[in-house]
Amino acid sequence: MNRREFLRRSLAAGVGASLALTGLQRVRAAEGAVTQFGTFIDLTRCDGCKDRSLPLCVDACREANWDKFPQPRKEDLKPYWPQKNYEDWSEKQHVTDRLTPYNWTFVQEVEVEHGGQRVTVYIPRRCMHCDNPPCANLCPFSAQEKKPQGPVVIDPHVCFGGAKCREVCPWHIPQRQAGVGLYLKVAPKFAGGGVMYKCDLCYGRITRGGIPDCVEACPRGALAFGPKEEMRQEAHRRAGSLGGYIYGEKENGGTSTFYVSAIPFESINKALLAAKQQPPMPVGVGNFLDTPNGLAQAVLLAPVAGLVAAGVAAYRGLQGGKKDG
Ligand code: SF4
Ligand code: SF4
Repeated sequence: MNRREFLRRSLAAGVGASLALTGLQRVRAAEGAVTQFGTFIDLTRCDGCKDRSLPLCVDACREANWDKFPQPRKEDLKPYWPQKNYEDWSEKQHVTDRLTPYNWTFVQEVEVEHGGQRVTVYIPRRCMHCDNPPCANLCPFSAQEKKPQGPVVIDPHVCFGGAKCREVCPWHIPQRQAGVGLYLKVAPKFAGGGVMYKCDLCYGRITRGGIPDCVEACPRGALAFGPKEEMRQEAHRRAGSLGGYIYGEKENGGTSTFYVSAIPFESINKALLAAKQQPPMPVGVGNFLDTPNGLAQAVLLAPVAGLVAAGVAAYRGLQGGKKDG
């Protein structure tokens, strides 16, 4: 290894360690000061609200977030050079069977082979609110943040819609809408392509002492919300009594969402893949930040992120501290 390479690697290791420490310290400080929240999703209790045209959790989410949904102007909906395409869901706001910028949670229905039988499983899906979210840590514009209470939140006033967050999320959760956001105003226009949208765990509501609207709406007790460690314990208790399985505790390095099922998640994932349903549920999926490529990108972004964070803080200050949620 030559001197130049040695220096490069040392710098990378140093910045990487300081990045990791910063992230951990942030979470630890947050844990000390503020309760971290999480959710427990019991798949044995969810019936997909099959007697209704729309699951109640989905309906409640859409209603609660309606005023946060994008409102692009028709004349802004076009590809800006060098883009060849743009993502527009504004004419498809009625779509409820997948994630879109206008639909932040949905319920998958899949047939799974288990114990010699075909079993129908319903799976509410949305952002997992990961412990060390690559979406937030690798956002070149610092538009996403892991809040001390646990939610990972996108600031639509800062997001350029470059979709890096979707690329590095194991479940490709954030969804882009063109024709809105800063990219329309700031040169070069090809810096992004709109704004990314996803579940924010009803961040505004929970900071006021409430619970997420989807949880409140569920008539079957399939969704629970509370201090994260209590949700984890609850998931373990339930899995223990069922002889069942947990998803979300280890995936992507840990998340704030704990699914419990009586059927192994390997079987559920296999069925989702066979049915070409997105997103799948890969068991034990790793965190992009733990890969050499992920670390390298974090290292490269570190100085830029610092500068952008300062700019974003100044911008937010000028905006007069807009309220979240
Ligand atoms: S599920 Fe995806 S979008 Fe949500 S916090 Fe994790 S990495 Fe980010
Ligand atoms: S989680 Fe509750 S509200 Fe949502 S589909 Fe399942 S039963 Fe219905």
